[in-house]
Amino acid sequence: MDLQRILCIGGGPAGLYFALLMKARNPALQITVVERNRPFDTFGWGVVLSDQTLANLRAADAESAALIGDDFHHWDDIQVFFKGRQVRSGGHGFCGIGRKRLLNILQERCLALGVELVFETDVTDDQALAAKYEADLVIASDGLNSRIRQRYADVFQPDIDLRQCRFVWLGTHQTFDAFTFA
Ligand SMILES: Cc1cc2nc3c(=O)[nH]c(=O)nc-3n(C[C@H](O)[C@H](O)[C@H](O)COP(=O)(O)OP(=O)(O)OC[C@H]3O[C@@H](n4cnc5c(N)ncnc54)[C@H](O)[C@@H]3O)c2cc1C
Repeated sequence: MDLQRILCIGGGPAGLYFALLMKARNPALQITVVERNRPFDTFGWGVVLSDQTLANLRAADAESAALIGDDFHHWDDIQVFFKGRQVRSGGHGFCGIGRKRLLNILQERCLALGVELVFETDVTDDQALAAKYEADLVIASDGLNSRIRQRYADVFQPDIDLRQCRFVWLGTHQTFDAFTFA
């Protein structure tokens, strides 16, 4: 197939990063990322990546990795609080960045490379959108609760195993000198 136009449905880290890597390697491709939120909306606050992941990002796209690295807060130690004990161990290497900042860096890099970004468009019909953009390839980058994956469940055959764990995000102004599990 002669691949000319790609449509990414969902502009989270996966859709944006796929788009920028693909465009960097194939500048002639027309790539559009369609996202339902606005560029400065976000859900969740921070993203923590290991040094190994950052090295992978540098190898894949040095420009965006440099911007991500500039904005990262780096920890080498992990501090665990468990049943009244504190354990600290060093030599791990983790970086933290705000999710919104990460998305904005990826969005800027996409734009610099010539990827088209379309915001505030909630995709209800992927086939109609693919026809509108004359897409040869559609990337379903619409996240964990992917509507596209559900729609084509017969083909993708997802195997989802719901467990009992609960999580909560809490905000604080406190700064931590180690990656902390409290
Ligand atoms: C509490 C929590 C903490 C986490 N912490 C970390 C961490 O520290 N480090 C780490 O690496 N990962 C972390 N993760 C995992 C990380 O958030 C996900 O792996 C990552 O966000 C997946 O990226 P994605 O682009 O696939 O999906 P998403 O980030 O979910 O992006 C999907 C995008 O698609 C858009 N979208 C969905 N449906 C439509 C539609 N119909 N039309 C248009 N747009 C649509 C959504 O608005 C969204 O922007 C965490 C996850 C959670 C829940």
